[in-house]
Formats: sequence, structure tokens, C-alpha cells
Amino acid sequence: MAFELPPLPYPTNALEPHIDALTMEIHHDRHHGTYVSNLNAAIEKHPELASKTVEELLGNLAAVPEDIRTAVRNNGGGHLNHSIFWRIMKPGGGGEPVGDFARAVDEAFGSFATFKDTLSKTAVGQFGSGWGWAYLDGSGKLVIKGFPNQDNPVMEGGRPIMGVDVWEHAYYLKYQNRRADYVAAWWNTIDWEEVDRRYRAAR
Ligand code: MN
Repeated sequence: MAFELPPLPYPTNALEPHIDALTMEIHHDRHHGTYVSNLNAAIEKHPELASKTVEELLGNLAAVPEDIRTAVRNNGGGHLNHSIFWRIMKPGGGGEPVGDFARAVDEAFGSFATFKDTLSKTAVGQFGSGWGWAYLDGSGKLVIKGFPNQDNPVMEGGRPIMGVDVWEHAYYLKYQNRRADYVAAWWNTIDWEEVDRRYRAAR
């Protein structure tokens, strides 16, 4: 099996009250689990791709055979997005950015408040299912943009730093249609040390 579902790095109830245990369990075990199974099923049709990372596959979708390209885009994107998402959250998270990333935020956005407001509005305003991402674009600039479905900044030559899942499956059980409340609560889960580690590795 080429790709594996990474275990959640904390118990399903660890992000309560911001993200509830049942949402975490279904989201990780079933949604992320299904992306991994579907990605593996697609790759089985072209075993020569099994040695590639998901970033390599998504970073050059044109090189992926057409019969599995959409499956790799959707399920590979789902696998990558969620693998990052679980890691940038932690119990007792939140607060403000640290380290080099804190300086990059101030440089690019003037303040953490503006960065937070911009990413929140981008995520809340993403039409339908998708993600709000902060990432380094192809020129290394820290930017924020919404992505539909399971698309990821690597598909545009970017390096993803932190993103928020705004698919309804990420919040509907607890927040129903109140996406803005979920995004506001999500900030209380952020592991800023991990975000800073990702930023330093991406630079
Ligand atoms: Mn999701």
C-alpha cells in the first residue's frame, strides 16, 4: 500500500470544546481514511507512481495519467490537506504566532490581527467546500488564498504552511451552518510551534 492514514497525534476529544470528539473521529477515520483508500486504488492502476510523494503527484498533475488524474487531485489533495491539518492543531493551542513565522506575518500583513482577519474572511467566504490557506507562493511570498474542494497550494508551486478545512464535514455536527463560529474557534487550536517549523522548512 503506497499511502497510509497517519494516526491523529492526539485523542479525538483533545480539541474540545473548539472541535468536538465525534467530528474529529468521523473526519479523521472516515473522511481522511477514504481519501487514502481512494488514492491507493487510483495508484494501483499505475504502480509506476507508487514511489512518488503526494506533493510530487499534485505538483505535476499533468504527468499523472489522465484516467486517474481527477482521482489523484481529489484524494491526493484530501490526503495532503488533512495530514497537515491534524498536525497544525493541538490541545491547549491558540495564542499568537512564534519565531520566524511571527516575523513573516508582521512583514507580509503588518500584524497578526490582519493576518488572522484575512485568513478567517477567506475561509468563511470560500464558496462551497474548500480550504483557506496561508502559504509561500512560487516566489516565496507569504500569501493567503481560498482553494476549492481538496486543491492545495502545491498544485500552483506553493508551499502550504497552515490551512483551515471549511468543508461542512469539518464543523456541521457542532456548528451547523455557522462556519464563521467554527473558524473563530479553530484559531484556539493552533500549534504555532508546528506552524513555525513548517514555515522554516518551506522557506
Ligand atoms: Mn476535511
